[in-house]
Amino acid sequence: MDCVSPSAEPVVSKTEGLRAGSASALLWSAMSATLRNDAVVALQTRQEKRQHATALQISQSSAILPFAICTLHFALCLSSCPLCLSVQSSSWRPWRSWRFISHPLSPLCLGGEFSIPVFRFDIKLSLRQHRTVSIDKRIGFTTTIPVEVLLAAGLVPIDLNNLFINDEERQNLVCQAERAGFTTITCGWIKGLYSTVLKHNIRTVVAVTQGDCSNTHALMETLMEQGVHIIPFAFPWDHDPVVLTAQLKSFRGRFQVRPAQLRKTKQQCDKVRRIVHRIDRLTWHDNKVTGKENHLWQVQCSDFNGDPHQFAHSAKQFLKQARQRKPLIEDIRLAFVGVPPIFDDIYEYIEECGARVVFNEIQRQFSMPFRTRDLVTQYTRYTYPYDVYGRIRDIKREIRRREIDGMIHYVQAFCFRQIQDIVMRKRLKGLPILTIEGDNPGPLDTKSKLRIEAFIETVRRMKRA
Ligand code: SF4
Repeated sequence: MDCVSPSAEPVVSKTEGLRAGSASALLWSAMSATLRNDAVVALQTRQEKRQHATALQISQSSAILPFAICTLHFALCLSSCPLCLSVQSSSWRPWRSWRFISHPLSPLCLGGEFSIPVFRFDIKLSLRQHRTVSIDKRIGFTTTIPVEVLLAAGLVPIDLNNLFINDEERQNLVCQAERAGFTTITCGWIKGLYSTVLKHNIRTVVAVTQGDCSNTHALMETLMEQGVHIIPFAFPWDHDPVVLTAQLKSFRGRFQVRPAQLRKTKQQCDKVRRIVHRIDRLTWHDNKVTGKENHLWQVQCSDFNGDPHQFAHSAKQFLKQARQRKPLIEDIRLAFVGVPPIFDDIYEYIEECGARVVFNEIQRQFSMPFRTRDLVTQYTRYTYPYDVYGRIRDIKREIRRREIDGMIHYVQAFCFRQIQDIVMRKRLKGLPILTIEGDNPGPLDTKSKLRIEAFIETVRRMKRA
């Protein structure tokens, strides 16, 4: 891929633009450092808050100016601004009230960019949860995490991988990261994630520090240099439920989510996931869903596109429409194993060759395909962040159940998971396997096309014989 496009600079967000253009731009810049501190402090656990008591005091004392300005503003527009009334009434501790005032009011009212939809949303959150809310509720993450925690906290989860790969300028995003200093031999996903965070001005990212990829560590550090707040989450490599319980407890503590809230959100998420499980069954059992459709629905389960309710509605509609289709006819049924592909058209090309993917291994894991009663069990049965043997057991089971003829192992260039191909081939002896490597986003290259075509033809001959 040629990285010479001039449009390299990250896009300035709409909010930033409005701030810069507003009459209170100077005021905003004076307050922004304090607000950033506040947003960070809001996401700390109680324990961390105690540890950082001194820092908090400094942060609060530096807030005297915004507090005074906002109090004055409140007094002036008390009768004309319903947001002020609501915010004040929801805040019962004076020392905390400046937080509510300075977050929703300063950029909206003082900046002159007051908008009704934002106003309603903020009021709803403030009144219902009595919790400090950042004006930006989007939380990015680098791979599947216990998304239930973010949803229970009233935040908007964003799987950065989905955001990157669906971006019309995904190739350009990789180039932007290279211009920022990432080498050409860094994984394309990592480069894409870096630029995606900056492009969309995502201020907080949950990074999986164990169970995904060591590149994530450097990605976190480069993002921290850009002022992004990083929250680590680690899956214990040995599936230890005690360690995972502690991780989950710390994670939900950061967002001040209670266990009861979490249980309720898990039940709601499970209902949504069950719709996607039916789509998966319609793929391999009823043969009414294509490999690409199966891939897309399952991969979106990592963040439900930020809105589980809307996602469930769309999935139900798709399910209804897919049930009425005639069954697809192909003679070769394939498994697609490994990280989701960076290629745009691999599923379409496989179908052009007369085969169909009826099992997307990792994507299916994102949909949490097992019935579980609690989050710890759910995230210990989820195979992706742990050793390869759990994944192989799952693959073997599904190969039998779905009557699979051959397997494509997708590997990403410069990814450590490539090495696991050795173990896969050893443990899945007897099954025809093709390993395909992808590097940057874009269509399949000619060499990969030829290899896929030849592989499908070989599987076909083996099946006939
Ligand atoms: S493909 Fe591999 S190297 Fe790239 S982000 Fe995923 S795990 Fe890391």
